[in-house]
Amino acid sequence: FNVPEPKNEPYLSYAPGTPGRSGLQAELKRLSSEEVEIPLIIGGKEVRTNSTKPVVMPHNHGHKLGTLHLANNKEVNMAIEAALEARKEWAATPWQDRVAVFLKAADMLTGNWRYTINAATMLGQSKTPQQAEIEAVGELADFLRFNAHYLTGVMSDQPYSPDGMWNRVEYRPLEGFLFAVTPFNFTAIAVNLPTSMAMCGNVVVWKPATSSIYSNFFMMKLLQEAGLPDGVINFVPGSGPDVGDPVMESPQFAGLQFTGSEGTFNHLWKKTAENLDKYHSYPRIVGETGGKDFIFAHNSADVKELAVAALRGAYEYQGQKCSAASRMYVPESIWPEFKETFLAEVAKIKTGDISDFSTFMGAVIDKKAFDSITGYIDFASEADDAEIIAGGSYDDSTGYFVEPTVILTGNPHFKTMQEEIFGPVLTIYVYKDDDFEATLDLCNKTSPYGLTGAIFAKNRYVINQMSDALQDAAGNFYINDKPTAAVVNQQPFGGARKSGTNDKAGSKQNMLRWLSARAIKETH
Ligand code: GLU
Repeated sequence: FNVPEPKNEPYLSYAPGTPGRSGLQAELKRLSSEEVEIPLIIGGKEVRTNSTKPVVMPHNHGHKLGTLHLANNKEVNMAIEAALEARKEWAATPWQDRVAVFLKAADMLTGNWRYTINAATMLGQSKTPQQAEIEAVGELADFLRFNAHYLTGVMSDQPYSPDGMWNRVEYRPLEGFLFAVTPFNFTAIAVNLPTSMAMCGNVVVWKPATSSIYSNFFMMKLLQEAGLPDGVINFVPGSGPDVGDPVMESPQFAGLQFTGSEGTFNHLWKKTAENLDKYHSYPRIVGETGGKDFIFAHNSADVKELAVAALRGAYEYQGQKCSAASRMYVPESIWPEFKETFLAEVAKIKTGDISDFSTFMGAVIDKKAFDSITGYIDFASEADDAEIIAGGSYDDSTGYFVEPTVILTGNPHFKTMQEEIFGPVLTIYVYKDDDFEATLDLCNKTSPYGLTGAIFAKNRYVINQMSDALQDAAGNFYINDKPTAAVVNQQPFGGARKSGTNDKAGSKQNMLRWLSARAIKETH
């Protein structure tokens, strides 16, 4: 049977007076009034360890949401064994029966669980209701449904059979187990990585980020309730080396799907190389890392559209998206008008507790992120070749709050024009209109990354020229729109250059990485 093409999940409104708002508010209240214990889940069973960590709200770090148990080598080895045991039946299960579990999970997520997963993402990751809705509900349901649909396409991709024979390709799960290492910033990505691999018949050791463990744990419970067999996905939070080392040293390690920092991805890739002789097969490695995403305006750009894109692209979810706009190129001729419009909008941004539904920005994820982001702000405020023209202050007394910040520099190679900050900081370089081409070249060469980028112009020839000059600078390229918020099945997401292997999340191509094709020729 085929899985028909689904539709993107519509977003629920949380406007005043809607059932969405009261439903979500009630769930926020319920969740914040209790503490949960978050064990590991190995072979379907809850496992507690003697190494624990408090789980707090980033915007109110005195408020404890729960206690998290952390894995050590022993538990990781248990998870590998449980996965391999589960593989015996799961890999032999018809793919339609496997995807049925995830289609049910998507319906549960958009049904009874909607407020729980939204609220958990708001509280644990400091997202606004709208930011949580578009990803933890909408994008995640889309990943589950579209990946199931993409498998239909994969399975039906069959070779030619001349008379007298029947050729066919069987798409088999990889032998061994897979490793999913997931980031804090999107509940959708955290769950997409292990589930996309599991849908293909693989078994998975999942290392979620400890800073988003709250929503990720609820999603693991949802998957179990949807009927995910024990051991198919094992939930194993812990430190990088504690979890990663035993996984990468196992001869049965067959692949990694990763989203996170470039440094960690490089480390894991090197570990794979070190252990290569041990493995039964060449592991598949898929990863999405950092970005230094740009907005480049031509002097024909619509200034209002540009200001909205910069505002939303740089500051939604506190700039903690790999796709967030973090460097901007504006021509001198439109700079005064843009500056006035944009800074007036930035001044209106409301930062604070996300359970007040009018907040635009919550807190950054934790102390480490806060220190790193504010380090960049301090650097800019002391530099001779840059100036902070909006924001610049921060306060971590209650929560990890950083004001939306705009840095203006005359140096296109200024530190904050080059390095990923992962926070609400946008750096702007104003170029002379006559230097348009040279500045395009600069934009192309300034960063080693190639994740997202946006251009703004009206003239088609100029658009083409910009698109050509920035060919490999962004795996997701936007014309007259912000560089964030890719939608599953509309803009498959992934970066070029040092931003990753560009095996687009939410695509048939990504699913193929988790399958091993056996071509069968049978003569008659
Ligand atoms: N897919 C997200 C977007 O388009 C970004 C994902 C990420 O931060 O890794 O905004």
